[in-house]
Amino acid sequence: MAGANERTIDCNKASLAGSVSQRACVFCGSRVVLYPIVDALHIIHGPIGCAAYTWDIRGSLSSGPELHRLSYCTDLQERDVIFGGEPKLYKSIIELIDLHKPKAAFIYTTCIVGVIGDDVEQICRTVEKEKGIPIIPVQAPGFQGSKKDGYKVACEAIFTLVGTKSKPFTPAKSINILGDFNLAGELWILLEYYKKMGVHVNATITGDGRVDDICNAHNAALNVVQCSGSMNYLAKMMKDEYNIPSMRVSYFGIEDMSDALYDVARFFKDDDMMAKARELVKEEFARLMPELTWYKERLTGKKAAIYVGGAFKAISLVKALRLIGVESVIVGSQTGTTEDYELIKQLCDEGTIIVDDSNPVELSHFVKEKKADIFIGGVKERPIAHKIGLGFCDHNHERKEPLAGYEGMINFAKEIYATAMSPVWKFTKG
Ligand code: SF4
Repeated sequence: MAGANERTIDCNKASLAGSVSQRACVFCGSRVVLYPIVDALHIIHGPIGCAAYTWDIRGSLSSGPELHRLSYCTDLQERDVIFGGEPKLYKSIIELIDLHKPKAAFIYTTCIVGVIGDDVEQICRTVEKEKGIPIIPVQAPGFQGSKKDGYKVACEAIFTLVGTKSKPFTPAKSINILGDFNLAGELWILLEYYKKMGVHVNATITGDGRVDDICNAHNAALNVVQCSGSMNYLAKMMKDEYNIPSMRVSYFGIEDMSDALYDVARFFKDDDMMAKARELVKEEFARLMPELTWYKERLTGKKAAIYVGGAFKAISLVKALRLIGVESVIVGSQTGTTEDYELIKQLCDEGTIIVDDSNPVELSHFVKEKKADIFIGGVKERPIAHKIGLGFCDHNHERKEPLAGYEGMINFAKEIYATAMSPVWKFTKG
């Protein structure tokens, strides 16, 4: 709890068996990170349930191919479990490559493959030789850890592509955007900002991602990392191997969005770039503040519960909510570290409940205890909110409105206002 409580939070550990954690499995973690690579084939080696669970899992938009939206699966059955699923997998990869001519293929293993021990790596090597495109095994049996371990597996898979090809020319002032997944087209908003500042975006990993751009990612001067929970591993590997520095940013809320732009300009030590960033921020402030003030006047006194995947996003949300007069009474994440929670503690008001790796029973209890008016979370938190009779704001995979950037801040304020102030909630309270 924020305030006088000096205890540090117990976090960054495996979930307690049987606790019905809100966290997803390793396979799901790898899938959410790799899914937005739009010109690659994604094949799940496992039962159809794993594929259905992660089918079209993010609202990641593409400016070109949409191969990522097809969720192929080997649909392992009893017979395959007994005799092995390797022949089925080999046949599936060949058939799908011939059909779609992808730039690369990611082959995900699931729990059952971890149990029966199919040699997926060998099959990938064989097909790679036959077809001449990267076939990348993603070793992600769900039971081997948590969603966070899946992020690491995905980063390792991406890293096998980095540095394998170079484009003829990459501008000196170029960055890779790591950890934005282009939900509802958010990446395109950011690209516009960077373009106005004169920054070249070399690769977007993985939102609206292209295999060739990822192969050339080692030629960028800087990795700008959002959703650091999922992409820190990749940034670290690229630092070790290619000496590319990285910086952690958030694109949510006016304050963090502006800092993200200034930090990039500061990195390049470019006065002209900084002046353009300042101009952009000034214009956006002038445009946004009257509208945000209107929302603040009406929302002041409302209370929010936040439970999201990454703690860095939770931090941005606390700041963004404060800007529109909403107090964060519960702040939690699935994958935060001790440092993240320390930051949250410093940021939040006294008495805020700070929680790591929670479950539905705990979250419901906290929400009732703190009398929250709105719950901000992802797909698994939505039913918790609705069962309690509480407004819900999706700030995760499935959102249809961009919530990043300055544009996103207005959308966020609108959504919080429309949901928290809806008259329907007076009929749901016992
Ligand atoms: S826990 Fe295992 S069976 Fe369930 S979705 Fe994840 S990989 Fe599939």
